[in-house]
Amino acid sequence: MPTSRREFIAGLGALALCPIERTEPDLILCNASVWTVNPRQPRAQAIAISNGRFYAIGTNEEVLALAAGSAKKIDLGGNTVLPGFIDAHSHPAEAGLDHLRMVDCDLRSIAEILAALRQQAARIPPGQWILGFKYDDTKTSDGRPLSLKDLDDALPDHPVFVEHRGGHTAWVNSLAIKLTKIDDNTPDPSGGKYDHDPATGHLTGRVRENAKEAFRQLIPTNFTRDDHREGVKLIAKMMSRTGITSVTDALGAPDDLRAYQDARESGDLSVRVYCSIFFSHIQQMLDGGVRTGLGDEWVRVGFMKMICDGSISERTARLSQPYIGRPNDFGILVATEDELFEHGRKAHAAGWQIGTHANGDVGIDTTLRVYERLQKELPRRDPRFRLEHCTVVNDSLVRRISALGAIPTPFSTYVYYHGEKMKEYGPERLDHMFALRCFIDAGIRPTQASDYPPGPFEPMMALQSEVTRTDSKGTVWGAKQKITLEEAIRVGTIHGAYASYEENVKGSIEPGKLADLVVLGRDPFKTDPTQLINIPIERTMVGGKWVWEG
Ligand SMILES: [Zn+2]
Repeated sequence: MPTSRREFIAGLGALALCPIERTEPDLILCNASVWTVNPRQPRAQAIAISNGRFYAIGTNEEVLALAAGSAKKIDLGGNTVLPGFIDAHSHPAEAGLDHLRMVDCDLRSIAEILAALRQQAARIPPGQWILGFKYDDTKTSDGRPLSLKDLDDALPDHPVFVEHRGGHTAWVNSLAIKLTKIDDNTPDPSGGKYDHDPATGHLTGRVRENAKEAFRQLIPTNFTRDDHREGVKLIAKMMSRTGITSVTDALGAPDDLRAYQDARESGDLSVRVYCSIFFSHIQQMLDGGVRTGLGDEWVRVGFMKMICDGSISERTARLSQPYIGRPNDFGILVATEDELFEHGRKAHAAGWQIGTHANGDVGIDTTLRVYERLQKELPRRDPRFRLEHCTVVNDSLVRRISALGAIPTPFSTYVYYHGEKMKEYGPERLDHMFALRCFIDAGIRPTQASDYPPGPFEPMMALQSEVTRTDSKGTVWGAKQKITLEEAIRVGTIHGAYASYEENVKGSIEPGKLADLVVLGRDPFKTDPTQLINIPIERTMVGGKWVWEG
């Protein structure tokens, strides 16, 4: 028998062990195929956990030898274990409220969508709004979009407002139109459009951009503090089921920060949150002396968020060359370089990380100039500037991103899920979109990012999309940017941790880090890459506790 536990442990050789003084683990997972994402010990069979953190990682023999009488042992039957996934750009608090109140229209036929809306109508008194979201006209089997008649026939007694997945268009019924007092002769609002049937001139029920406002104004938005907390609880559960253990709220406000903290205190927060603060709220935070990093491993204040240009899925990102088929359309810039610099300067000087929405090459160039100026005028060590989305790049942008040490958060599931919308960018540009290959080769650390609701958040879909660059119908988009499965897993774990300054506490399975992991039902390394999306998530652990067991 060794004379002390320390000597005994030293004798185990390859076993990686937490340096924290601690007598025994409380949980041991054994007989697993562990991909640790720790380059010093890439593979293991067993994991010991103590007080919510990884305690030891090694072979079954090594780790089981640490078990004292009270340690619980779980045999994982050879299943694959990965670090928990980190969704580095998403909108959980807002999506949670949507899920609480709206009908999820991510369904594959108009009949199914109408049935779901009718089900909601059965619970709500006539005259009150029925709201839908995540409807996508390209995803139903009917080969045509929703119509006014569909909605009128199915829901004659309730005003209806169904939003497109991208959030820029909506479908309404006749009762909703009547309430807004809009008719066939109402002129379009500036920056918006009421669609008309070209044959009859009648409204079709589809309304675009600012034309949604007339409806939005009539829809009650009286959320209580409890609603916000309930929303967070709901979305956190949904994410846990897919293997996500940490998420970044990419457009947070003080209300959201409070909701995450409320959910955490009531025991309902099953994912860790890095909550950005939109620039319009930043003064409040600066006045309170708050900056990036305040909080703990559950809820932490994130970066200050700004927006530079338009969207990819709705084709408004600002590009140097026009969209295919629209020779005069270069997309839109929503802020000037000077505006971004002025807002950025205040936050940068106060120690905030900055993240700016920049999709098109012109948007990215503008944002990089702002960051380069900030570092020149107010040099800060390790600012980790973020480029939210950073979709359309070129070699010179990649070099500048690398030189600045900036972090891109490209859409992870868009190639797979939104493939049919990609043709307006053209094949040449697609070879430089969601450019994970270029980023990784240049030493940049891109993250996994869903942007949910616009993009699905399932990490298995992200892996498949990034590895195959193939959409759900089998079309390949931008094959040059394919990465390996091992790289995609790093993108979805340790890179996400780096993006929130937390690479020393999470993102890999190593002693001392938070015990966040996912157990998969099949080995992704032995699965056809086009089937990764079908791998079941058996269990998800956060801080040593199972938050999902399938
Ligand atoms: Zn976003």
